[in-house]
Amino acid sequence: MNIGMFQATPIQSISENLNNNTFFIKRDDLLPLSFGGNKARKAVLFFEDLMREESDCVVTYGSSSSNHCRIIANIAAVKNIPCHIISPSESSHPTSNSKMIELFGALVTLCPLAEVNITIERKLVELKEQGYKPYFIQGGGHGDIGTQAYVNAYEEILEYERVSGMKFDYIFHTTGTGTTQAGLVCGKLLHGDKREIVGISNARKNPYGGQVVLDSVNSYFINIGKVPITTEEIIFIDDYVLSGYGFYNQQILKTIKEVLINDGIPMDTTYTGKAFWGMKEYIKNNQINGNKVLFIHTGGTPLFFDNLEELMNE
Ligand SMILES: *Cc1c(COP(=O)(O)O)cnc(C)c1O
Repeated sequence: MNIGMFQATPIQSISENLNNNTFFIKRDDLLPLSFGGNKARKAVLFFEDLMREESDCVVTYGSSSSNHCRIIANIAAVKNIPCHIISPSESSHPTSNSKMIELFGALVTLCPLAEVNITIERKLVELKEQGYKPYFIQGGGHGDIGTQAYVNAYEEILEYERVSGMKFDYIFHTTGTGTTQAGLVCGKLLHGDKREIVGISNARKNPYGGQVVLDSVNSYFINIGKVPITTEEIIFIDDYVLSGYGFYNQQILKTIKEVLINDGIPMDTTYTGKAFWGMKEYIKNNQINGNKVLFIHTGGTPLFFDNLEELMNE
């Protein structure tokens, strides 16, 4: 398989019309690789770098529900190179993603959350001693390469606007490790645009969450010789994280059901459904009316199936 020959993902209008806004969704969940999503967009660039460096195995980390680990394990299987995943034992219940990770033949090392870093270090040393040249990818595909993936996505949005003649006033999306948001913000600033990019956090709180996005933007900017930016540029909203990662409520289930039934688009309770609900609350609370709003669907389709029973009971 030839990874990395993607076309721009579709942007479609949806039936939601809260406060007379018109809503569109950019379908990064449809990227044609391992159920797509933002981790697929990032992973393609990481594997290009891995090939450039002539590495012969890959090491990364994440929980058993990690979309990132599923995609890295899948591409490693495509390329026929060993994939090592360090996974915290606290979050190792079986999920659709963990079953696929197993199916792809990834080698999972479980350890307590507090020992993830040292376990990664040990694994890298061990692999080098065995004569491998390991390539390390941070959890979630974090880092400048991950940021680049969403500078590219931002440019796809610009191209859509150029062809269609319309402009989005707001771009909303789920923000987690912050790389997706950093890439979108970098894209916006590099092109001198004014619109608002609003990251709806699924877990992290401020100031930490917003600071990581800012650090990611500035790491990327320094790398390409641009002046670092200040925190006012980052809209990192932590009002809808509930009790943190993985927590959701009845309204989120209701939102997911509505989008699925009205528009045929699946979302999950950890990332996209939670943020779509958070976006609607934010729009109500900030009285945003009559604007064009783009929501980026960052993927996670296997998690939709993990939640299907609860959706049916809602
Ligand atoms: C990882 C993930 C996110 C968060 O992306 P970051 O770049 O880590 O902020 C959002 N949505 C889905 C479906 C994800 O898997």
